[in-house]
Amino acid sequence: MMLSCGVSRLIVRHLRTGVASTAQVPQVCIVGSGPAGFYTAQQILKSHAAAQVDMYEKLPVPFGLVRYGVAPDHPEVKNCINTFTQTAAKDRFTFLGNVDIGSDITFSQLREAYHAVVLAYGAAQDRALNIPGESLPNVLSAREFVGWYNGLPENADLKVDLNVESVGIIGQGNVAVDVARILLTPVDILKKTDIPENILERLNGSRVRHVTLVGRRGPEHVAFTIKELREMVNLEGSGPDLRREDYKHLRNLIPNLPRPRKRLLELLAKTGLDAPDPKLASSWAAAEKQWSLRFLRSPVEILATPDGQAVGGVILAKNRLEGEGLNQRAVQTDETESLQCGLILRSIGYKGVEIDSSLPFDQRTGTISNNGGRVTGQNGVYVSGWIGTGPVGVILSTMTSGFTTGKVVVADMETGSVDISRPRSGQTLIKSALAEKGVQPVSFDQWNRLNQYEVETGAKLGKPREKVSNIKHMMDIIHQ
Ligand code: FAD
Repeated sequence: MMLSCGVSRLIVRHLRTGVASTAQVPQVCIVGSGPAGFYTAQQILKSHAAAQVDMYEKLPVPFGLVRYGVAPDHPEVKNCINTFTQTAAKDRFTFLGNVDIGSDITFSQLREAYHAVVLAYGAAQDRALNIPGESLPNVLSAREFVGWYNGLPENADLKVDLNVESVGIIGQGNVAVDVARILLTPVDILKKTDIPENILERLNGSRVRHVTLVGRRGPEHVAFTIKELREMVNLEGSGPDLRREDYKHLRNLIPNLPRPRKRLLELLAKTGLDAPDPKLASSWAAAEKQWSLRFLRSPVEILATPDGQAVGGVILAKNRLEGEGLNQRAVQTDETESLQCGLILRSIGYKGVEIDSSLPFDQRTGTISNNGGRVTGQNGVYVSGWIGTGPVGVILSTMTSGFTTGKVVVADMETGSVDISRPRSGQTLIKSALAEKGVQPVSFDQWNRLNQYEVETGAKLGKPREKVSNIKHMMDIIHQ
């Protein structure tokens, strides 16, 4: 069904009821083209027979963290892009890339142009440690480092010095493990991924030999999952350097734990306590690189080298645990120890940013306050994904969030709790505001052109794609 996007169209027929209606075409916009945005769009298009869905994305390219966060050596995780591309092909969907909401277009302009606004713009910032020395060169967030090896334009020129032997990663979640794995994986393996060529060159020249992941609590509290641990255990050219005494208590805990944690801790205990099988033993013995886990430690100060120009290490306070079971809390003691390292990556979580002061933004959690996707106190405004839930969970949980929000948007339009009787101009108004500002929105067809360019360039190099990580270069290819 082809619909134009002017203000005078009528809804044709309602999908669920099959009853013809004379209401206006509901104009819905989504801010952000990550999994949350695309799954919300999919749900709205499926549940409503006439709604027009416009998706605004600040980058010229879609897919958010699927393109710029998910580890390049996990290409199977990126298969959701196929589903997103099918959604983008629907005739009631429009992608408008290269449009930054909050800067090119304000939230109130969107409110005026659309019946419903869905905010799905993720968590684009990171949490700081707030300790002395954090501003030294080579103290970076894992978010920036991940962006760098994934070709994210804003991190393309990140100043990272890999001419160091030891790296300290603060955090023990999956992002921390992704970063450790990329630092330790032989470059010959990484060459087959979509890590950009200039970054591969830098990784090839890396002197990193030892990566330590530091956690506030004990091994029973690690936040990474079993797949990521298994990959570390079997990582070619690397072996674990673990302290046996850290793992001894795990075997008493394991029988009483729920299944996923039980399996994870069984593998952790096995790795920390048991002799590996002969194949793994010889691989670990031959390994030139090591990874370690340091538990019950919190960073309190980052130390400079004697010339004050680089990172020399980090002082860690020893923690004790208070409370019961897996909810125990880490409490710092006065005892400290130091960890030598020349690069520190803090991996303690992402954080959403405020794009408009009229939104109920919770500075502490970095999220927009909402109830099941409905933004608190704002009729017709919704959140989906990390900006509403906080930066936790995987694509699957983001999908659930997206579907939930999509359903409430449609329900509110059906019940009349969102008034769709007044016509809204949708993208027409926004496009003219963009034209006035000289902003050229990128369509999905134009993204497809860039996509094809990246895939063809990558094929010549024996990899899935060679990402373009410069916005001007992207726009040149798009407009060729
Ligand atoms: P995002 O994916 O961040 O999408 C938000 C989008 O909004 C972005 O495209 C952004 O550019 C855009 N945007 C931001 N601000 C604006 C603005 N002002 N105007 C317009 N657009 C804007 N999950 C897995 O299942 N498997 C994995 O292996 C995995 N690996 C991960 C690795 C890392 C390093 C990270 C950080 C996460 C990983 N995840 C993984 C989790 C997964 O990426 C998230 O669950 C998911 O991406 C969250 O989706 P989202 O749409 O809320 O946010």
